[in-house]
Amino acid sequence: MRRLRNAKIVATLGPASRERATIEALFRAGADVFRLNFSHGAHEDHRERAELIRSIERELGRPIGILMDLQGPKLRIGTFADGPITLVPDAPFRLDLQKEIPGDATRVALPHPEIFAALTEGTDLLLDDGRIRLRVERFSASHAETRVVTGGKLSERKGVNVPGVMLPISALTEKDRRDLAFGLELGVDWVALSFVQRAEDIEEIKAIVQGRAGIVAKLEKPAAIGHLEAIVAATDAVMVARGDLGVELPAEHVPSIQKRIVRSCRRHGKPVIVATQMLESMISAPVPTRAEASDVATAIYDGADAVMLSAESAAGQYPIEAVQMMERIITQTESDPHYREVTDAAHTPPQADIAGAIGEAACNVASRLKAAAVVAYTRSGSSALRVSRERPEAPIIGMTPLQATARRMALVWGVHSVLTHEVASVNEMTNFASWTAAEEQFARHGQSVVIVAGLPFGESGFTNLLRVAQIGGETLH
Ligand code: PGA
Ligand code: MN
Repeated sequence: MRRLRNAKIVATLGPASRERATIEALFRAGADVFRLNFSHGAHEDHRERAELIRSIERELGRPIGILMDLQGPKLRIGTFADGPITLVPDAPFRLDLQKEIPGDATRVALPHPEIFAALTEGTDLLLDDGRIRLRVERFSASHAETRVVTGGKLSERKGVNVPGVMLPISALTEKDRRDLAFGLELGVDWVALSFVQRAEDIEEIKAIVQGRAGIVAKLEKPAAIGHLEAIVAATDAVMVARGDLGVELPAEHVPSIQKRIVRSCRRHGKPVIVATQMLESMISAPVPTRAEASDVATAIYDGADAVMLSAESAAGQYPIEAVQMMERIITQTESDPHYREVTDAAHTPPQADIAGAIGEAACNVASRLKAAAVVAYTRSGSSALRVSRERPEAPIIGMTPLQATARRMALVWGVHSVLTHEVASVNEMTNFASWTAAEEQFARHGQSVVIVAGLPFGESGFTNLLRVAQIGGETLH
């Protein structure tokens, strides 16, 4: 099973995608990585979904990535007794700490004492990605009386942003630590850290994760943009989390920041996901707006590794159609002759080290020989990342003896992961790479493949070998 596109699709699972048949259909439609959003759902729900993903993976024989998304210090309101409420402008609305009491049309819990501690009169609270605006009129350490400025429908557990107010909170809450321990035990491949503000936040989670999963830094705070280079250097991957970013900052800043983040990630060779509201209207309609289709295409032209669906696949009425639509937009965009020009224009030379030089050379050789594929034999995934960074025209096969690496590479631009066994010699590796390229239907008899790897084979993190093989040519021993 081979995808005929380079950019990847991340699909969030939720109530609309809990059945095995739905998850399998999402995968078949194009989802490469599934996101388990720990802002919602119980541990048991996530466990069930992770097990379904692993069983689909076994059945279809293709590595699938699982990304756990930690809620982070996301501030959220509590629940409502009778479902969503409607707030009307000028009505009073009360927020308090009593999370055990379900809310109604006059009040709801906001179980975050640090918000009440940081309030001043006239502060605006933004709810549900900024759709609802409440102005604080009176407050104490445990409650706030607000007036509705912008009303609308409000459902439970929606997010709260306090723009411009610096809240003294760390990027990992107690809940995140519990969730993280649980997720690592489940064997997730990527862990996304929300509301990252500085590179130290990444170091903090890396010290806990210890390489058991890759780290995705979610950039959604103005402070993170100020420390962009250091954060991209520290993390394994990045998510442009436009939902909260667009609430914390004016919406008109989001497009240029998105491009800045994607450029920085491409320069560092770190996978980058563009997320949130990509096909938002498909939550309740079988087709997207033209503007949404254009938004997905823009991320592809920019050279993002992946685009993400949130509520569209987690809670919408058309989860499978949303993935199919993304698949079609990506395929169409990548086949535009102009696409190459645009992504190549944004390309920067690789790092001046051996791995960078090998990655670049592999892509040059592949392009000169019109090679059928570039095969990266990789333990940590870093050889595949070095090749992917160069955005070659030839498909990339990421061959690895480590299942965790095969799954993690599902997020990376252009990489088709294949799980293999350990190899002992360069010749064995070369034969195996050629055989795999043919077996996975990337290369036919007579075509050449370019292979990169790191010696010694048993160790991670080297990329120092470049070799060209011809399919069906002399067998090397
Ligand atoms: P969230 O992150 O869905 O966890 O809030 C994405 C975003 O803020 O865009
Ligand atoms: Mn967010």
